[in-house]
Amino acid sequence: MAETAAILNPCKTVLLPDRYAGCGLADMATAQQVNEIKKKNPELKVVSYINSSAEVKAVTDICCTSANAVDVVNSLNSEMVLFVPDRNLGSYVAEKSGKMIQLWDGYCYVHEQISIDDLIILKKEHPKAAIIVHPECPAPVRHLADFIGSTSQMSQFVKNSFHQEFIVGTEDNFIHRLKTDNHDKMFYPVHTLCEGMNAISLEKVKRSLETMEYKIRVPERIHAKAKIALDKMLKVL
Ligand code: SF4
Repeated sequence: MAETAAILNPCKTVLLPDRYAGCGLADMATAQQVNEIKKKNPELKVVSYINSSAEVKAVTDICCTSANAVDVVNSLNSEMVLFVPDRNLGSYVAEKSGKMIQLWDGYCYVHEQISIDDLIILKKEHPKAAIIVHPECPAPVRHLADFIGSTSQMSQFVKNSFHQEFIVGTEDNFIHRLKTDNHDKMFYPVHTLCEGMNAISLEKVKRSLETMEYKIRVPERIHAKAKIALDKMLKVL
């Protein structure tokens, strides 16, 4: 995500407060692996999720976020699509678009570990709660949900919903934002945390601003190609 911010804002300084705060999902695909598949299947259109490395974005046709992934895939004039790197989001997009999508065998461990048992137990404890989940969750979990969406889409759903209680199937810290925006509603987490996201603390942000470390630098060769894939996505929005 920090690389994406740097690519889209070349005149600005982008800092990562903890140099080891990575994304386990992004680490599941390399540009070399994607290129090998493209060589064998030159007709494939490759869609890369925003949670991928700049190198991977640079060898793909177009990027997407969890909010616009379905629109991005629908915008492609092709039925031959490879979705990288999240197999769960890819299968969600396949369900929604009706397209045959080749899935990369990657996943976000934070969402992958959410189980239908977690949801069933919480639903028994809070029978009036609506279940909302992120599309990075596995299909059986998504199929139990009342609403599936990105964090911005879940926020909107909660704001407009007549429900007063919600079981929230995504990284636990998202609940803080929901509580801040909806004082009158109740939220129940599934207890799943992202190590990379939680590596960033207020103290580290302060230190980062004081020392101007660690600057994100994307090599020009990768920057230019990844920007093409990101710009194509922005045109779909
Ligand atoms: S929750 Fe963590 S591991 Fe999962 S996609 Fe987000 S940053 Fe990556």
